[in-house]
Amino acid sequence: MFKARLSVVCGRVQPRPAKSSVSAARTFTSSAPRSKQRLVILGSGWGGYEILRAIDKKRWNVTMVSPTNAFNFTPLLASCAVGTLEFRCAVEPVRKFSPQVACYQAWCDTIDFKQKTLKCTPATAPLEYEGSASAPLAGTTTNDTSDPGTGNAFKLRYDKLVIAVGAYSQTFNVPGVKEHAHFLKDVRDARAIRTRIIDCFEQANQPVLSDVQRRNLLNFCIVGGGPTGVEFSAELHDLLHAEIQKHYPTLARMAKITLYDVAPNILGNFDKSLGIYAENKFRRDGISIKTRHHVERVEKDRMFVKEQGEVPFGLLVWSTGLAPNPLIQSIDSLEKHDKTQSLFTDQNLNVITKEGHADPDVWAIGDAANIKGQLHPATAQVANQKGKYLAQKLNKIVKDQEHTKPFEFQNQGSLAYLGDWKAIYDRSSAETVKTKETGRVAWLLWRSAYFTMTLSIRNKILVPTYWFLNWIFGRDLTRF
Ligand code: FAD
Repeated sequence: MFKARLSVVCGRVQPRPAKSSVSAARTFTSSAPRSKQRLVILGSGWGGYEILRAIDKKRWNVTMVSPTNAFNFTPLLASCAVGTLEFRCAVEPVRKFSPQVACYQAWCDTIDFKQKTLKCTPATAPLEYEGSASAPLAGTTTNDTSDPGTGNAFKLRYDKLVIAVGAYSQTFNVPGVKEHAHFLKDVRDARAIRTRIIDCFEQANQPVLSDVQRRNLLNFCIVGGGPTGVEFSAELHDLLHAEIQKHYPTLARMAKITLYDVAPNILGNFDKSLGIYAENKFRRDGISIKTRHHVERVEKDRMFVKEQGEVPFGLLVWSTGLAPNPLIQSIDSLEKHDKTQSLFTDQNLNVITKEGHADPDVWAIGDAANIKGQLHPATAQVANQKGKYLAQKLNKIVKDQEHTKPFEFQNQGSLAYLGDWKAIYDRSSAETVKTKETGRVAWLLWRSAYFTMTLSIRNKILVPTYWFLNWIFGRDLTRF
C-alpha cells in the first residue's frame, strides 16, 4: 500500500537509482507517454487554475505545483469572513483534474532555467512512517529527490513552465503586523477572521469584564482602504447590524469599525466621485474612516498610530496591497519591474531574460507578472484573462499551429461592495464604453458578476443558495 503510493509520486520526480520493485511500480504508474511534453504550472490561483481548466490534457503531460490543493475565489472571501457565504462556496478543488493532471501540494522554491528543473518543498505535514518518523524511504537515495509528504525537497523537470504564483500581502515592515494582524488572502484567513469575530463577542459577553475592556474587544480595525479593506468593512457592518444586533443587542452598541489608510482618500483606484460616494456612505453607516493615518507598530491586542497613539483592538485586518512572492524575488536571471518586482513579460507573456531575450518555454501571468511597457492592475480579471489566453496558445503549440496574436486586456470594470445591498461599479478607465454606477444597481451588477464568474456548477448552486438561506434565516454565529 505504502509502496504503491510512493510510486505514484516517483513517476513524476527526477529519476533516481531505485530498487527493482520500486522501478516496476514506477513504470506502471507513469500515466503519460514519453512523446507528451511536460507542462508545469506553478500556482492554483486565478491564472494557474484557468490554465488547468482549459489546457488540452490529452496532449500535454500537465503537472500542477501549489501549496494549496484548491483554487480560492478571492472576491467572495470577505463574504465568507462574516458568514454571508460558507467557505466551500469560495473554493474549487484542484484534484478535480487528477489523475489526468499530476498535482503536488508543494512550494516551488527555486527554478533552474538552464537545466529546466524546479526544486520544491512539500506543503503537507510530514508523514510518520512505521517504525520511525525519520526512517529512510524505500528507493530514496538523496535528499533533494525524496517523496513529497516527508517534508524533504524534491525536483521536477519541465519542458514548458507557467509561473502563476501571485503575490504576498504587503506589510511595509511595520513591526508586529505578521504576528498580530489577520490577512485576507485565502479561505483559511477568512475562517480565522470569522472565528475571531465571534470570539470577540463571546469574550465581551462574559460578566466579569468592564465596559472599557468590552469596547476594546469590540474595536474592529481594518488597515488599507483599497477594495479588499472596504469590502471587508462593509460585510462586517452588515453582520453587526443584522445578526449581532439581534443576538448581542447591548454589545452591538459598543462595537466600532474603523478603516485606516495613509492616503488622503480610500479606493484610490476608483473614479474620484465613487470614492467620495463610498466615504459618505461609510460615514452615514457609522464606519469611521481615518485617512492620512500611519500605523507604526502592532502588538497583541493593540496598535500604535502616529496621529492617534495607542489603539486597542479585538480584530485587526491588514490589507495594504501586494509584496513580491519570495520565489519571484529569488529569480535574478529575468527582467523585473523596478517598483513591484514582478516579472516582465513580452506581449505573448513569455518572460524576458536579463539579456533582453524572451524565453520561449517560460510564461508568467497574474500578480507575479506584468507586460513590459504596460501596467495592468493586479486583479483576478487580468490574471484570468491571461490564463485563458495562455491556455489557447499552449493548445495551439501542442498541435503545431501558429498563435502569434499578442495578449490584449479587456477591461470589464471594477466593483466594490459597500454594505447594505449597495455597491459601486467603475468602468471609467475603459477605452470603449465608460460607465459608473452606484447603489442598488451596482450591487445587482456585483452579485451577478460574481455569480457568473463562479466556476463549477456546484458553486453556481451553493452561492445563491447561501445568499438566499442567510437572507431568510440570518448568518450562522456558531464558532468551531
Ligand atoms: P493568486 O490567485 O494569488 O494565486 C497564486 C497561487 O500560487 C496560489 O495558489 C498560491 O498558493 C500559489 N503559490 C504561491 N507561492 C507559490 C510557490 N512558491 N510555488 C507554487 N505555488 C505558489 N480581483 C478582482 O479582479 N476582483 C475582485 O473582486 C477581487 N477581490 C479580491 C478580494 C480579496 C480578498 C483578495 C485577496 C484579492 C482580490 N482580487 C480581486 C485580486 C485577485 O484575487 C488577484 O489579483 C488574483 O488572485 C491574482 O491571481 P494570481 O493567479 O496571480 O495569484
